[in-house]
Amino acid sequence: MKALRYVAVGQAPEVVDIPIPKPGPGQVLLKVTAAGVCHSDDYVMNLPEKDYLEQSYPLPLTLGHEGAGIVHELGEGVDSTLKVGDAVAVYGPWGCGRCHNCSMGMENYCTNAAAEGIRPPGLGSQGSMAEYMIVDNARHLVPLGDLDPVQNVSLTDAGLTPYHAIKRSLPKLGAGTFAVVIGTGGLGHVGIQILKALSGATVIALDVNDEKLKLATHVGADHVLISDASAADKIRELTGGLGANAVFDFVGANPTMALAQSVAALDSDVTVVGIGGGAMTIGFGTIAYDAAVRVPYWGSRSELIEVLDLARAGKINVEVQTYSLSDGPKAYEDLAANSIRGRAVIVP
Ligand code: NAD
Ligand code: ZN
Ligand code: ZN
Repeated sequence: MKALRYVAVGQAPEVVDIPIPKPGPGQVLLKVTAAGVCHSDDYVMNLPEKDYLEQSYPLPLTLGHEGAGIVHELGEGVDSTLKVGDAVAVYGPWGCGRCHNCSMGMENYCTNAAAEGIRPPGLGSQGSMAEYMIVDNARHLVPLGDLDPVQNVSLTDAGLTPYHAIKRSLPKLGAGTFAVVIGTGGLGHVGIQILKALSGATVIALDVNDEKLKLATHVGADHVLISDASAADKIRELTGGLGANAVFDFVGANPTMALAQSVAALDSDVTVVGIGGGAMTIGFGTIAYDAAVRVPYWGSRSELIEVLDLARAGKINVEVQTYSLSDGPKAYEDLAANSIRGRAVIVP
């Protein structure tokens, strides 16, 4: 089968031919129908060799932590209602399945995963950018039903991650409030739609790229601003001087985190989702009183079911740019050039 793999540190990913894997006991083999391209893949592929190896990423690594497929074969002893032929989405943040957080479906916060070497597909385990993929346990699969896999595969991360981030701030986002979204790419453009569907907040979206701001308006942002030195004043003006009740930073670099900190209102939430290497210095007088700063990771299995339900209800829609598996390397070039509108999805 064909697979898109990161084969050597510092090199572009390559399309290679490898044998179709056999599902071991408890595993499920999927025939992949769609695989989403995330900026985090670019982060991993840009790690210096020492950091890449220290974090025990294998080489070669089949990319892809957003995956959808058809159940093709069940390994020995798989205890599930799943049947061969079922359409599923892959819940990516795999955990141990038995700790307190995993028991609540929050495998993204598994307390044993690191010690036991359990890694998400595409981010340590072999991922979805191949004709077939192994899923370690049937509980990582969520029925897709009649949702189109190509249109919806990215809800497993570009939908789930903003959903989890936003859901926790909903008590602060009633009518008359303001939410700021920084970075309106893959995650951000879905985040805007989730805010519009679930909250009463007026949404102010920021990006450095005009095309991305056009997309932000298209998906429902009430105001769009270029993310530059003047943005903080403009946000103050739009919010009547009070600032934003929640800021979601899908970039996470020093300038965006400084902006988020400076426009946070009293008792607001500042949520840093992007992993752009930034840091914040928080102390008395450096941020509005009672503002809370959060750094979430991905989301829970039940939140993925909720996100899929939002899509089924027609309330969110991922803007998708498709690529064949052979064109996979081009998808990463386009991501690095910041020229993707919404999410790139590979269709094997
Ligand atoms: P993307 O490339 O699709 O979107 C990033 C957007 O940010 C682009 O539109 C870009 O123009 C914009 N941008 C860049 N610099 C900016 C600035 N200074 N101000 C405003 N906008 C700016 O990326 P994505 O796949 O949506 O991922 C977004 C970030 O979230 C990445 O850092 C990714 O690694 C991270 N991520 C984190 C989690 C998590 O669980 N915490 C999960 C998935 C992705
Ligand atoms: Zn991701
Ligand atoms: Zn666990």
